[in-house]
Amino acid sequence: MVTPESLRDTATGVKVGVLTSGGDAQGMNAAVRAVVRTCLFAGAQPYAIMEGYQGLTVGGAGIRPFAWDDASGILNRGGTVIGTFRSRDFQTREGMLKAACNLVTQGIDRLVVIGGDGSLTGLDEFASHWGSLLDDLVAQGRITDDQRQAHPRLIHAGLVGSIDNDLVGTSLTVGVDSALHRIQEAIDAIASTAASHQRCFVVEVMGRNCGYLALSTAVSGGCDYVLLPELPPEDGWEQAMCDQLRRSRLAGRKDSIVILAEGATTRAGEPISAEHVRSTIETELGEETRVTILGHVQRGGTPSAYDRWSATWLGYEAATYVLSATGEEPGPVFGFHGEQVIQVPLVRAVADTRSVPQLIKAGKYDQAMALRGEEFADLARIFQELSDPVRTQANPADLRIGIIHVGALAPGMNTAAKTAVWLGISRGFTMVGIRDGFLGLAAGDMTELTWKAVDGWNQEGGAVLGTRRHVPKVEELYAISRSLESAGIQALVVIGGWNAYAGVQLLNDERSRYPGLQIPIVCVPAGIDNNLPGTSMSIGADAALNVVVDCIDKVKMSASATQRCFVIETMGRDCGYLALMGGLAGGAEQVYLHETGITLQGLQSDFDWLRSSIDTHGRSFFLAVRNVRAKANYTTKVLAHMLDEEGRGRYDTRTLTIGHIQQGGAPTPADRLLATRLTDAAMTQLASQLSTGDRAVHCVGWYDNEIRLTDITEAMKSTDRKRQRPNDQWWLGLKGILDCVNREVV
Ligand code: ADP
Repeated sequence: MVTPESLRDTATGVKVGVLTSGGDAQGMNAAVRAVVRTCLFAGAQPYAIMEGYQGLTVGGAGIRPFAWDDASGILNRGGTVIGTFRSRDFQTREGMLKAACNLVTQGIDRLVVIGGDGSLTGLDEFASHWGSLLDDLVAQGRITDDQRQAHPRLIHAGLVGSIDNDLVGTSLTVGVDSALHRIQEAIDAIASTAASHQRCFVVEVMGRNCGYLALSTAVSGGCDYVLLPELPPEDGWEQAMCDQLRRSRLAGRKDSIVILAEGATTRAGEPISAEHVRSTIETELGEETRVTILGHVQRGGTPSAYDRWSATWLGYEAATYVLSATGEEPGPVFGFHGEQVIQVPLVRAVADTRSVPQLIKAGKYDQAMALRGEEFADLARIFQELSDPVRTQANPADLRIGIIHVGALAPGMNTAAKTAVWLGISRGFTMVGIRDGFLGLAAGDMTELTWKAVDGWNQEGGAVLGTRRHVPKVEELYAISRSLESAGIQALVVIGGWNAYAGVQLLNDERSRYPGLQIPIVCVPAGIDNNLPGTSMSIGADAALNVVVDCIDKVKMSASATQRCFVIETMGRDCGYLALMGGLAGGAEQVYLHETGITLQGLQSDFDWLRSSIDTHGRSFFLAVRNVRAKANYTTKVLAHMLDEEGRGRYDTRTLTIGHIQQGGAPTPADRLLATRLTDAAMTQLASQLSTGDRAVHCVGWYDNEIRLTDITEAMKSTDRKRQRPNDQWWLGLKGILDCVNREVV
């Protein structure tokens, strides 16, 4: 594997340019910072190109060598500190000649561009004309033949910074998650005022050609209707929309929210305006209807935890690539496929992305949807079902599915429960809510959940049904079995963490002796530790991570006027996910994890590094994030005392244990979307098993960008039962990136 460290021999002195272009997006700074610092780590010299391609054409101060400190303090900032610009000059031959001349005279022939499809098209044009541009420059006497020979190719890589999430072939692009956070905050606020006044709201969100923001918001905000560019509504849609809103009201909803993507059109290609939607609803329903156009707030504010760690990872990969590539192969775009970074050929990615609006124009909606990928199609299908409160299937056999939470609280448990209830009702089941985990189940504490009863649970933190960590003992199984039988529950959705899985495994192991336990069961992973088998992410881990990162931001600010060290302690039991990802996204210089342990030798090297960094590089702050169980004897307090002692008066040290606020708060958009998709898959699985009589027990997960069901026994086999975590933790390798981008070489 190529790492910046392994490149030191060849990369020393190599010059790399980085620029941000097109529309700004939160997380661009994290990407720039990672490119700059990865280059420095490898011994290369990074250059920030100011104001996008304009800086290339202008040259001079537009192309600046960047040092470690130039990329300091920007991780938590929205926008892009190196500027972005829609450069017309660069789109001309002369502009590109100037750009190539400026680069070659500075000795730069490696470039990382962070921008949308326009910017990446520009990069492709520039790279493909590089040879002829340099020939012209030699012919015009603007560069020498030696210079031309020294830079035969432009070695380049692209990262997609775009809140639209429109790049075909990758999952989330940089900035989308933060935009969803901004929209979600607004929708949650609007939902409460709308409910108080029984009002309708039409909310317009960004997305000229791509409806991802609109669709995700409609699902995660529990909205009523959505208008997307990819799925222009059929003629007469106004009536269908009003009928749907009426049905929701009759079913008991107090607020109605219609989400409109900025680029939504009719099938004839006519733009649909928010005002048209508003006046239609007001006239048809006779209800006061308001419009909110969210506009640029969607691009603003601090980047979410996801946009920080994912953009950091992408920037690291792009820099490593341009430092090691020869330029003979076509330049890639780096993006995510689920939880993995992938490279897609730039030219194909841009061509596919640009073909979507054409397909929509030509009425080829299925093809346009196919290019948007599985998640988009899934969300569109689920939204259609969730937004219509009318039971679509009869339930003559009175099939009853129970819902139960087990384990520690995780934001998003309510979202999963509500989704299960609404989808269950729509699919013809009676849904039964079991209170307080296995204890409540044994006691028969359960109630039928109606559509109206769970309305509004989507955005609520906590768990309305209650949750308990209790894992049943064998002697409690008789009561549990009897309870299930007497309530007529024929299938079970268990939403929770490790103890949910352990409890279900026990039920499965012992089921031959208890008829009531011989039912299909699906575990839905919900737990802030992100330590569950069969999934890369569990519901609630993203909300907790955002709490950690928010605390880090505040701690950093509190320390900005002094010489200070901080040791922050996160939850996670024996799983270091929150500590490592929090440290990566928050810019911590060190993380202490249970997985990697803490040694005296390691601590000694931290202390030496810190003293040297303070004495020779003017460092004034040091942050370590410690997972609560990183090492029994090296507690957070002990580490702080050791840091103080070893600092020899250079700084003072403070600690912060973040504690239970990590479990509180509202689920983030990512948690809600995950909860919705996983619960949909769980309900589909249970319905299928009920129809065939299959009584197997599964857990559902999101893995390799797919929703998968795994046999519970198989899934548990791939875990460390004692440590309560999977054997393979995909995020553990990111420690190397943290060391590279958060810890200056001194
Ligand atoms: P985005 O990158 O967000 O899609 P734009 O489409 O506005 O935004 O592109 C940003 C910039 O990229 C343009 O202002 C221009 O400088 C450059 N660019 C876009 N397309 C081309 C092209 N075909 N050739 C050269 N440069 C281009």
